[in-house]
Amino acid sequence: MKVLVLGAGVVGVTSAFYLARQGHEVTVVDRQASPAMETSYGNAGQVSFGFSSPWAAPGIPKKAVKWMFQEHAPLKIQPRMDATMGRFMMQMLGNCNPESYAVNKERMVRVAEHSRACINALRSETGISYEDRQRGLLQLFRTEKQVEAVGKDMKVLEQCGVRHKLLNASEIAAVEPALSRVPGKFVGGLHLPDDQTGDCYLFTNRLAEYCREHLGVTFQFNTDIQRLTRVSGRVESVETSAGSLTADAYVMALGSYSPFLARDLDIRLPIYPVKGYSLTVPVVDDGGAPQSTVMDETFKVAISRFDNRIRVGGTAELASYDLSLAEKRRATIAMVVRDVFPEGGDLERAEFWTGLRPMTPDSTPIIGATRYDNLWLNTGHGTLGWTMSCGSAQLLADLIDGREPSIDPSGLAVSRYAA
Ligand SMILES: Cc1cc2nc3c(=O)[nH]c(=O)nc-3n(C[C@H](O)[C@H](O)[C@H](O)COP(=O)(O)OP(=O)(O)OC[C@H]3O[C@@H](n4cnc5c(N)ncnc54)[C@H](O)[C@@H]3O)c2cc1C
Repeated sequence: MKVLVLGAGVVGVTSAFYLARQGHEVTVVDRQASPAMETSYGNAGQVSFGFSSPWAAPGIPKKAVKWMFQEHAPLKIQPRMDATMGRFMMQMLGNCNPESYAVNKERMVRVAEHSRACINALRSETGISYEDRQRGLLQLFRTEKQVEAVGKDMKVLEQCGVRHKLLNASEIAAVEPALSRVPGKFVGGLHLPDDQTGDCYLFTNRLAEYCREHLGVTFQFNTDIQRLTRVSGRVESVETSAGSLTADAYVMALGSYSPFLARDLDIRLPIYPVKGYSLTVPVVDDGGAPQSTVMDETFKVAISRFDNRIRVGGTAELASYDLSLAEKRRATIAMVVRDVFPEGGDLERAEFWTGLRPMTPDSTPIIGATRYDNLWLNTGHGTLGWTMSCGSAQLLADLIDGREPSIDPSGLAVSRYAA
């Protein structure tokens, strides 16, 4: 079957990989000149299956009010709210209760755990490397209150069979030796030894190269997708700046921009672009730098180690599709990396970047069929899109082929919003 994958971010390229592996003739279309030039370019580098939790959690509304008055807060909301942002916030608030949290968490963990198996198999099969490390993640706590609060998350990790260990202040440096240089800063940490780290841009580009060379996938870049046309319950064509493209099946993997193209087909996707920032800092002292990923729970900033670079990512800003680089946000993430790893990197030479997380109000990606026989969605991966990409793409390939899916797909398709 001829399949057009719309979007060459990490979700589109992994979709192409699994579909081509199952024998389909795949073309990937993107407006950029190469893969992973938008949100998949500069993310925080954590492949954190054990960390897959909805942002919409019971305590969040109260915390959000507190964050409004903090200089270095993890969440920022632009004062001028438009209708789309208002609707997203209301829907998200509707998910901040224990029942919805449990449902959403189970769905995310289901996809993330499948992704763990898929990315490990993908690495062995393709042999690609992407400055990856398989050394776990350490969530760091600055207060005893944070340690007490993590008890709830640990119960869920136990139920899901995710390995983890709560460490006290004297044990964290055994996992991340550089923390011995900042004694007294943290009261403890939660270690997830099976999480992974790497550069998502390199992963997506090397996988795209593999797809081209070994699986016959075609990439059509510099092509702006303008509109999808339909005829009797099917997508008929994709209209682009390079003309009309047709296929037997279409996969929409356009990240934060998916709602614009879906709207033409009367599909309402509740995806909002939640802006985040990262700094990429050259390592100057290996012993003072992280060895894998640490997550500073207070500021919700993740710090990951690549070969000779440190990637620091964080901040959730609701500001529509604005991609300007706000110096105030840079100050927050720079402050955190300076505080935790003061000697590890050279902040003067850091690359500053911003991207838009394609966020759904229930934090769960949208994977599966639509009411058009030949249109499939793989989008809305939000905060942990790379982490969930391989499992989502493998599941979608099974669904498109009508095979018994490797995991239960219930609650993942766009139809969950119909009610
Ligand atoms: C600061 C930050 C830190 C993050 N940290 C992590 C992390 O540590 N781990 C993790 O797992 N996830 C993380 N994420 C989330 C993750 O990066 C995203 O979920 C993921 O990259 C989304 O991938 P995607 O392929 O859906 O979207 P994208 O990468 O945005 O890909 C969509 C593609 O569609 C193309 N496109 C869009 N519209 C059109 C059009 N009209 N015509 C043609 N092409 C079009 C774009 O060019 C783009 O290439 C982070 C995100 C941010 C912002």
